[in-house]
Formats: sequence, C-alpha cells, structure tokens
Amino acid sequence: MYFTEQHELVRKLAGDFAEKELTKEILDQVEETETFPEEILGKMANAGFVGIKVPKEYGGQGADARSYVLVMEEIARVSGVASIYVSSPNSLSGGPFLLSGTEEQKKKYLTPVVRGEKKVCFALTEPGAGSDAGGMTTAAEKDGDDYILNGRKTFITMAPLADWAVVYAKTDRTKGTKGISAFVVDMKLPGVSCGKPENKMGVIGCATSDIILDNVRVSGEDMLGEEGKGFINAMKTLDTGRLGVAAQSIGVARGALDEAIRYAKERKQFGRRIADFQAISFMIADMATKLEAAKNMVYKAAYLMDTHQDASMAASMAKYYASEVCNEIAAKAVQIHGGYGFIKDYKVERMYRDCRVFTIYEGTSQVQQMVIAGKLLKK
Ligand SMILES: Cc1cc2nc3c(=O)[nH]c(=O)nc-3n(C[C@H](O)[C@H](O)[C@H](O)COP(=O)(O)OP(=O)(O)OC[C@H]3O[C@@H](n4cnc5c(N)ncnc54)[C@H](O)[C@@H]3O)c2cc1C
Repeated sequence: MYFTEQHELVRKLAGDFAEKELTKEILDQVEETETFPEEILGKMANAGFVGIKVPKEYGGQGADARSYVLVMEEIARVSGVASIYVSSPNSLSGGPFLLSGTEEQKKKYLTPVVRGEKKVCFALTEPGAGSDAGGMTTAAEKDGDDYILNGRKTFITMAPLADWAVVYAKTDRTKGTKGISAFVVDMKLPGVSCGKPENKMGVIGCATSDIILDNVRVSGEDMLGEEGKGFINAMKTLDTGRLGVAAQSIGVARGALDEAIRYAKERKQFGRRIADFQAISFMIADMATKLEAAKNMVYKAAYLMDTHQDASMAASMAKYYASEVCNEIAAKAVQIHGGYGFIKDYKVERMYRDCRVFTIYEGTSQVQQMVIAGKLLKK
C-alpha cells in the first residue's frame, strides 16, 4: 500500500545482500571478536545502504524514508548489529549535520562517512542525564574564538571507532535547554578519550563507550548550527531518527517469526510437529498479527515523512509499539524453540538479546508514551 515498484526493488536488493553477506559464520565471528568486519561495512557502503537517505550532493543515495525503512528492516532481519551501521549515518549521526550543518560541514563530514571511510557518533546521553537529556552538565566555555569542552558522555554507540563525535554541551548554564549547543569534536583532539567498551547483553560488534572531554579546545567553526540551538537539533534528530529503531524492530521480529515457524514445522514431540499443537500455532498467529500491525505503523510513519506531513507522533508510536512487540515476538520465538532457544547455536538466542535495547535507546518506551500523551493532551 505504501510502496512503489522502486521500493520493492530496494527491499529485494537489501534482502539479497543480507542473505548473501551476513552469513551465520560471519555473525558468529562478530559476536566472538566483538568486532564488525570493515570489509562488510565497505560492501554495505558500496551498495548504497550507509547513505541511503543522505542527499546525493553529500555522497548518499538521496532515497526517501520508506527506502531507508526497507533497507533497515531487511538488514535487521538477519543481523540487528549490522543494521546499526546502516542507521547511524542516515539518522543519529548524519541527522545533526543535515539539520544544522553548513554546506562545508556537510561535505567535510557526511561524505566520507557515507562512503564508509570515516565514522561519526552522536553524543547526547550522560551518566546523570539519560531520558532527561536536557539535564546534561557537559560544559562548553567560550575562550576567544574557541570553546573549551569539559564533561562525560555515556553509552555512545561507536564512540571507540569514531573519527568524530557530535557533542551536545551547555554554552550557557543559566538558560536550561536553550543554553545547549552542538559541536563536531575530532576524537583525536587532546583531552578526548573513551571509556572502556561496555560489556553488553546484545548488539555485540558495535562498541559502545563513554567519551571523556577534559579541557578539549574546539574551534568556534566546529559549532553545528547556532549557539543555543543544540537541544532542538538533538530532539529533531531523535524525532525522525526513532523511525530507524522502529524499522530495526520489525526486521528482528520478522527474523524471529521466520525462525519460529521453521522450527515449529520441523520439531516433533508426542509424535507430531509442534506446529500442530494449538498452543504453538496460536502463539505464531499472535506473533504474526502483532508484527503486521507494527509494520503498518512503521511504513505509515515513513510515508508521512516522505509526503511532508507531520510524522512526529506516528514515529513515536511506531518506535514504541514495534520495539515492544519485537521483544514479545523474540521471547515467544525462544519459547517455541524450547531448550534449544537458550543455546547460542540457534539464531533466536541472539535476536532475543539484540532487541532488548530497542525499547531503551533513542527514547525509552516510557519516553515515547510521554511524547504521545503530550501531543494528545496538549492544552
Ligand atoms: C546500547 C546502547 C547504545 C546507546 N547509544 C547512544 C548513543 O549513540 N548516543 C546517546 O546519546 N545515547 C545512547 N544511548 C543512551 C540511551 O539513549 C539511554 O540509555 C536512554 O535514553 C535512557 O537513559 P538512561 O539509560 O539514563 O535511563 P533513565 O533515563 O535513567 O531511565 C531509567 C528508567 O526510568 C524511566 N523514566 C525516566 N524518566 C521517566 C519519566 N519522566 N516518566 C516515566 N518513566 C521514566 C525510563 O523509561 C527507564 O525505564 C545508548 C544506550 C544503550 C544501552
């Protein structure tokens, strides 16, 4: 309903790529080494996925939100962690540049990222400021034409791998969120360091760590957008960015449902396929129905974005519902696998762990409820 033939071609391209390149051997190796092969990242960039939504003038494909959603879904269906490498430049790390960057900044930073040559991360969260990101304490003090940054960012996806970080810091502590500005920080600058990579439950192979800023001197030219407009930049980035997590959620949920169906048809107990037991078949019917609802919500939000309609609430609802449903579907897929679902040789074990973070990052489910309720109950 929401897609053209062109979109279906994009879906097929991404689906075929995921099947061919993201093999079980590669994905097992990613978990073991906690490292994603640069070679595959290069292939994803060459295929155009890494910059699918980034405009052509900055090296991307200039495709629409629906194409982005389809690529995310197809990649996540096979590998949750691989889809993070697709979402980052198209959403959290590329978004701040597209929203507020100068032409020069967009060309300088986005183009090499889209080509897969460099990486940029999005550094908003702090140890004491998660859902309440406006409560950050990282400070940027003006010193001549420069700013001196001090503070600590936490849980930053790709920080240990990144060449640059978009860092949000308070340039004026008296103005609340209106005193927050965004800066592009070169990760090699003196005073910048990373904490130890977090030992995570899932999405292993995309390192997450703190970023410590200790008297880091940043040129005023590296401010992204206007002074005091950083929080708006972050919130707008997240507003559309959460569509990526929603798409990731329907992807992993599809992968888990496919595995559950395959296993239920194969596994025999009491002399019959377990699929023939109503308890199992109804569980599968439930999973498929909820996934269908989630898919429609995600596709609708993307369609609203593509047709320049207000997609903010639809994207929040899609992220909220799809991520919760994905967790439910993955848990049921493990249940259908019985004891084997608890064993790492079976794909659903990883899917179950990978999707746990989907209801947490880019705004928890409770934050999505706050956004949705806030819009509905506005005075
Ligand atoms: C793997 C991973 C990758 C991440 N990547 C990034 C990244 O690249 N960049 C970045 O900036 N951040 C990143 N984050 C941080 C992520 O966005 C935060 O963890 C998230 O926003 C929640 O913040 P918190 O962990 O401090 O939890 P808290 O905000 O402390 O929340 C704890 C609990 O309280 C609930 N809660 C909080 N406030 C309210 C309220 N007002 N009403 C009801 N319930 C409430 C929450 O929903 C949650 O259940 C990442 C996190 C993880 C785990």
